[in-house]
Amino acid sequence: MILKEDAMLKQLSLWLALSAVLSGPATAADYAEFTAPGLAKSPLTHSDIAPLITYYQQQDWLEVTELGRSVEQRPVYLFKIGQGERKVLAWSQMHGDEPTATAAIFDLLAVLDAQQQAKTAQASWQDQVTLYLIPMLNPDGAERNSRFNALDIDINRDALALQTPEGQILMQAALHIKPHYAFNLHDQNRYHASGDNKKPATISLLAPAYNSARDINPSRRAAMQLISLVKPMLDSAIPQQLGRYDDSYSIRSFGDTFSAMGMSTILVEAGGQFNDPLRQQARQLNLQLYLKWLAAIGSGSYRDYDVSGYQAIPMNNSGGMKDLIISHVGLQQADGSGQLAQVDLAFTAGGNGRGSVVLDEIGDASIYGGYHTLDASGLLYSAGKAYPLSKPVELSTAQYLKLLADGYSHFTGKASLLTNNSGLPVAINPRGLNKLWPQRQLTTTFLLSKDQAVQLAVVNGRLIKLADASLTDPFTGN
Ligand SMILES: [Zn+2]
Repeated sequence: MILKEDAMLKQLSLWLALSAVLSGPATAADYAEFTAPGLAKSPLTHSDIAPLITYYQQQDWLEVTELGRSVEQRPVYLFKIGQGERKVLAWSQMHGDEPTATAAIFDLLAVLDAQQQAKTAQASWQDQVTLYLIPMLNPDGAERNSRFNALDIDINRDALALQTPEGQILMQAALHIKPHYAFNLHDQNRYHASGDNKKPATISLLAPAYNSARDINPSRRAAMQLISLVKPMLDSAIPQQLGRYDDSYSIRSFGDTFSAMGMSTILVEAGGQFNDPLRQQARQLNLQLYLKWLAAIGSGSYRDYDVSGYQAIPMNNSGGMKDLIISHVGLQQADGSGQLAQVDLAFTAGGNGRGSVVLDEIGDASIYGGYHTLDASGLLYSAGKAYPLSKPVELSTAQYLKLLADGYSHFTGKASLLTNNSGLPVAINPRGLNKLWPQRQLTTTFLLSKDQAVQLAVVNGRLIKLADASLTDPFTGN
């Protein structure tokens, strides 16, 4: 009996979570039911989704077929759901290092699967809509965590030339299915801000142009209306963090080409968020977008919306976010007689947080948003002295803090002589040394002092607070 009640309770909680996710307002716990396991990671590769593909191949409420193979012979699959006249084609991860929507597609499948398991009526859109999903179009790029395919070609610049097997697979699918709607699912780099909001564009949307005049024809209008329809939901979920992607006509790209072929195409870019390096909020919002769009395409309700909602979305502000902004840093007079100027220092790390840290800008950084910020008012910059490595050094935390307090910011000489047991980062032979002022593109290691006393050490862009030896790493890949 207890087992049966447990099962009933589980069924009830699943049903409640389903209702919340389908109609809102949903909580993180509601989504947890439908978060496909093992996908909250980056990079996300074919082997991560293979067990899920096997599972869905065994379900009878959808069709899974292999569309073709990548350069390195990894399979690319098509999932077909529903039996309606309106056809939607969605594909993800055509850029291998952009995994968020692949995870969201499997979350959508988990929702649809739960509807089947709970024996609730299938989603009403499935009578009007047939949904075709291609998760992870570029498995070879995913394997190397690269934007490009195994030939180092950007598949999203191959829509005309069609020299990649992956691009051919997508074009063949589109020509065969003849979708009315296309969802082109990507990740954008975390340095895009939403307009002047100084916050990351966690989601950016675009109804791609089909010509260089960026005209609005009925199919592009429909894509804009679908975006207008979801704007209130996004404005509420991520206030000031919705962006509109640049609509310059890009003739080699699939989104623009499909627009020109008459599909109502929507580009979705999952973006950065504070304290969310694996983009789990963007993933949840992707799921919400798919559910809302499928329902609206099924009912036709989006036609009631005006394109003005779409046009009111702030443009993406490329480079509007920095990983770290240290503001109000005092620079000393050349003769050491006091403060010459007060500047902000803005840092980023290349790639998806994998590259080295760079000092992008010195001066007024007040127009930028920062994933991490530090107000250095009252603190003076100094490059710090070099501690020469001439014999073996075993560095404890206490010894290191004493060196920093004594004005040593870095080590010079033979790196192998230093055994770092401090648990804190060290800089050995850093660039941009021995200057009175920081140097753009070079400086990432220095000291900040008040009345000659070192308060804070910045080592390779990581912050060490001397008072409590605490470490802040702003470059963990937000
Ligand atoms: Zn992309």
